[in-house]
Amino acid sequence: MEGIIPAWGRILRGYTPNLSIEITRECPLRCPGCYAYGDDHLGGDVTLRQMSDYRGDALVEGVIRLVREHRALHLSIVGGEPLVRYRELDVLLPKLTEMGVYTQLVTSAVRPIPREWAAIPRLQIVVSIDGLPPEHDVRRKPATYDRILKHIVGQQITVHCTVTRQQVGRDGYLDEFIDLWSRNADTRQIWVSLYTPQVGEESPEMLTPADRQRVVGDLLRLRAQYPKLRMPEGMIEVYRTPPESPAECIFAKTTTCISADLEARVTPCQFGGQPDCSQCGCIASAGLGAIGRHRLRGGLRVGAIFDASFKVGAAMRRVRGWTSGNGNRESENGNQAPGA
Ligand code: SF4
Ligand code: SF4
Repeated sequence: MEGIIPAWGRILRGYTPNLSIEITRECPLRCPGCYAYGDDHLGGDVTLRQMSDYRGDALVEGVIRLVREHRALHLSIVGGEPLVRYRELDVLLPKLTEMGVYTQLVTSAVRPIPREWAAIPRLQIVVSIDGLPPEHDVRRKPATYDRILKHIVGQQITVHCTVTRQQVGRDGYLDEFIDLWSRNADTRQIWVSLYTPQVGEESPEMLTPADRQRVVGDLLRLRAQYPKLRMPEGMIEVYRTPPESPAECIFAKTTTCISADLEARVTPCQFGGQPDCSQCGCIASAGLGAIGRHRLRGGLRVGAIFDASFKVGAAMRRVRGWTSGNGNRESENGNQAPGA
């Protein structure tokens, strides 16, 4: 619950406390089912690979400007592959820490993660590892197990696995995966998401409803056996009944996602396009969903407090727009929470 009060303050003032930035359009991987490079990720007119992006000081300054503009408390640095801009990150990450921002860097670990980054406070390095070596290495080469194991030495990473259909065909698969990474000394914790398709998608990655129920059951069992699987029960349960739409998703409403030109919005959430909320498996959405579904003493849902706060925040944005002479421009293209 740490960070809830300041985040709530930002919401009441009409800001989204979480910011997610695709800091580069580049990535040496070609993962099947990658949403960032989907044709509709940015609405259909342009793809992430066609987007202009920044390097050097312009990138560092651009990210800091966005963090200030949005009064962000938490920043997710995503891509593309953020490590292709490791020189810029060397400068940027300590600056974000000085600003009091909590930063999450999501990477494939395709190249070494600089050792010094392990000592940067408020930085979390999340490495995407999609299953055991036979499945992962096919999907995510050249970011294979061999490389990852070398590149994370000296860090305390968060392992992030997105479960796809390919991983649920065999009993005990998740057990083996969680056990393997629990024994890794460079791993602090393990998170598991479920593959989230676009509306109307038919792909080999998609889980069936029965797969989903089985994975939820496995996670509930495994969290009790493996302390590094840091996923509260309520969060896992949200995977059974995800939010019905972006308007119901606290994560989408509290996060502004920006693409590599540092301007274009990715909506309604980091997936872009038209994600199928009914099959959402995003761990961030599940985490905030669990908080929203929690009932306080007296029976009031925390989500009801959020909803009231979003309304106050929307009014504050309008007032800011009027007082800054922009009419309601700010609410149209400034900090409008996706799906609100
Ligand atoms: S590493 Fe990430 S951005 Fe790159 S192709 Fe894979 S899923 Fe997409
Ligand atoms: S993160 Fe939220 S908006 Fe995005 S697919 Fe999941 S439920 Fe829908």
